[in-house]
Amino acid sequence: ERGQYPEAAGKEEEWIQERVTFHQNPGEPIEQELPGDRWLRIQEGRTSDGGLIGFRFDVTKLKRQERELTRMAWTDGLTGTLNRSRCTSLAESEFNRSVRHNNSLALLVLDIDHFKQINDRYGHAAGDEVLIELANRWRKKLRDHDLLGRLGGEEFGVLLPETDIEGAKKVAEKMRLMTLADPVLFNSDQLGATISIGISLFEKRHASIDDMMIDADKALYEVKRNGRNGIHSLAA
Ligand code: GH3
Ligand code: MG
Ligand code: MG
Repeated sequence: ERGQYPEAAGKEEEWIQERVTFHQNPGEPIEQELPGDRWLRIQEGRTSDGGLIGFRFDVTKLKRQERELTRMAWTDGLTGTLNRSRCTSLAESEFNRSVRHNNSLALLVLDIDHFKQINDRYGHAAGDEVLIELANRWRKKLRDHDLLGRLGGEEFGVLLPETDIEGAKKVAEKMRLMTLADPVLFNSDQLGATISIGISLFEKRHASIDDMMIDADKALYEVKRNGRNGIHSLAA
């Protein structure tokens, strides 16, 4: 009634029943969320004469640190996008879901063109700023369930669930245009950048997300070969 147990909201009776059962048969410690992102670790045990002894530990700090560690393990420190390992593992799940439900799935691999020149001409910090700013621009335009991850260096991956080739091309073209539309400001320099994008679409012959990645890389290579600042898909 006082809203003291957020997890019980909407299923109060069921929750009370669970807790009563736990009190009667205390086992492993449980973690209890309290309002305001506070956490208790509850440990209970029976005494030989039928009583119950209970301890409450405040584990709020530990829980918050744990969450922060998880966040850090999953994100790229520079751009705030998913890092390669997290991105790959989420993409694998998404790939399997698409196979199960027979949904379309598109993968874009983006690579900034002549990025080395930006570093060489304006310095590494300028290059960093380009990565941060472009990642922010792209992220704002994507849907919540699209994944944006940094695959390494100046290469990024975008996974678009339930998206067909037309949709994928539209997103890719939008990302390409918003990249070159405005230069990135760094100190007093205006840093123009373009990107090349390879697109692959889930097909029956793809056994894993890695296979889709290989196709997207091939498509990306085609764009680079044809002069950069473009999009290409191996599919029709
Ligand atoms: P291309 O159009 O063929 O892709 O040429 P490119 O210059 O973009 O490609 P290349 O792979 O030769 O160079 C990528 C550069 O990206 C080299 C590397 O120093 C730089 N780089 C990688 N990671 C970072 C980073 O975190 N920050 C900065 N500033 N530069 C980075
Ligand atoms: Mg590049
Ligand atoms: Mg590259």
